[in-house]
Amino acid sequence: MKELDELLQQAETGIQQAADLRGLDHYRVLYLGKKGQLTEYLKNLGHLPEKERPLAGQKVNIIKQKIQTLIDERVTILREAEVVNQLAADSVDITLPGRHQQVGTIHPVTKTRERLEALFTQMGFAAVDGPEVEDDYHNFAALNIPDLHPARAMQDTFYFGDGTLLRTHMSPVQIRVMEESKPPIRIIAMGRVYRRDFDLTHTPMFHQIEGLMVDENVSFADLKGVLINFLQAFFEAPVPIRFRPSYFPFTEPSAEVDIGCLSCASKGCRICKNTGWLEVLGCGMVHPNVLSMAGIDSERYTGWAFGLGIDRLTMLRYGITDLRALFENDLRFLKQF
Ligand SMILES: [Zn+2]
Repeated sequence: MKELDELLQQAETGIQQAADLRGLDHYRVLYLGKKGQLTEYLKNLGHLPEKERPLAGQKVNIIKQKIQTLIDERVTILREAEVVNQLAADSVDITLPGRHQQVGTIHPVTKTRERLEALFTQMGFAAVDGPEVEDDYHNFAALNIPDLHPARAMQDTFYFGDGTLLRTHMSPVQIRVMEESKPPIRIIAMGRVYRRDFDLTHTPMFHQIEGLMVDENVSFADLKGVLINFLQAFFEAPVPIRFRPSYFPFTEPSAEVDIGCLSCASKGCRICKNTGWLEVLGCGMVHPNVLSMAGIDSERYTGWAFGLGIDRLTMLRYGITDLRALFENDLRFLKQF
């Protein structure tokens, strides 16, 4: 009897201390299982004198009942604790700031390209592209720039050493179009071009747009009309425009085009070097040699071409003073556009 009382006490302590349902199950097996301690007592009742058996049996059953009750109570407590723990672990702190998604913006150079394409396609020009890795013929020779021509020194070229190079302008695309099609031709070509240059106003890679028109009776007046129309549409203002005589090997006559300085209204400032004018593009009548080399009858057809820096146009339009800012991928800068 004394042993049974001690056993109950031990069971009580153990059950109270069981930290989880698994630990509790250990005690259930230990006392109430098939080979549990109380079961053993019941089995051994037969060894007692006959008179003591009923009392002992009753006692064992009472203790068994008590242990079962203790276990049941503990199960309830542990289950509740488990739910509380689960809720705590799963809780979401709705006071934490959210993680927002970064919304991208269109690069200012891309915006300018899209704008240029829209303006010129409205005027009936088709947008075309060509390879960035070119051969010497299409980049130079076909443009009336033979070997050893001093104009080659004007463009610091990246050569690959096998006769190929990174195109230094978009003109090879014009050549390819002329080789493959018959007039009338009205195209613009936009893309990346490469020169070995790096400072405030030069980067080794930059963007150009070139335009070409070839047909019968095409004159310099048509060129002026298209360019004036384009520049005023692009800057959304009746900007003053002037044509200055210039020289390019692939056009004759050639001209450079200036617009009135946008930041000082032609009064003279640091950006226009106090001249009141900003140079924006080069143009001219396609040299008859260039037409002939591309397989176009230069007696019957005439044409004009122009080229300008898309990055420079972007800088003028958005008031950016350092060209390199366009290529440094600084999101704080790019998000402003
Ligand atoms: Zn100015």
